[in-house]
Amino acid sequence: MLETPAHSEPSLALTATDLKQWAYCKRIVYYRHVMPVEFSRTYKMQRGRNVEAAVEAMEKRRGFRRYGLEGGERRFGAWVTSKRLGLAGKLDLLIVTDGACYPVDFKDTEGGVRRNHRIQLTAYALMIEESLGRSAPAAFVYLVPSKELIRIEIGDDLRKEVIGAIDEIRSFVRDERIPEPTSARARCVGCEFQNYCDDIW
Ligand code: SF4
Repeated sequence: MLETPAHSEPSLALTATDLKQWAYCKRIVYYRHVMPVEFSRTYKMQRGRNVEAAVEAMEKRRGFRRYGLEGGERRFGAWVTSKRLGLAGKLDLLIVTDGACYPVDFKDTEGGVRRNHRIQLTAYALMIEESLGRSAPAAFVYLVPSKELIRIEIGDDLRKEVIGAIDEIRSFVRDERIPEPTSARARCVGCEFQNYCDDIW
């Protein structure tokens, strides 16, 4: 397994969601940390919570065969942290078996599993390994609209990418250096930060 570098005490607390958003658009993470603003509860956020509750109720009735596991213990809404990386996050579901742990995320999204989802789940895996002392060799995404369960292998490349992103976020925030906007400009439509990004319109 990849060794994480011995970081000095992290100065900026980050979340798995920060890592996911960094892979989506770096500016979103920058704005959240450098220009903190109050966020109202949007329809999308409320829908996310409703979906989470519905999937949780359904999940409780299921076995582990669809995960390719013999059995295990389910922990919904589990908090995990890494002091070493200065990370924290709340999982939709954590499956604990005798030999390993598996983070599971419920995604109410069309279009399959994306890179930013893989990054988020890898951040959870790193936190699980530190806080529970068990390996997290894989993670799962449950795609709510299509009811598909996708397994993601947590390999060294993803681990390196997450650790690199953590250092990069801290560097940008510390130096108050605004990152480049996302090149996928369709993401800017409806973005809550578009008023800050007047250089891209
Ligand atoms: S408007 Fe576009 S570039 Fe600016 S934060 Fe939102 S997604 Fe990123």
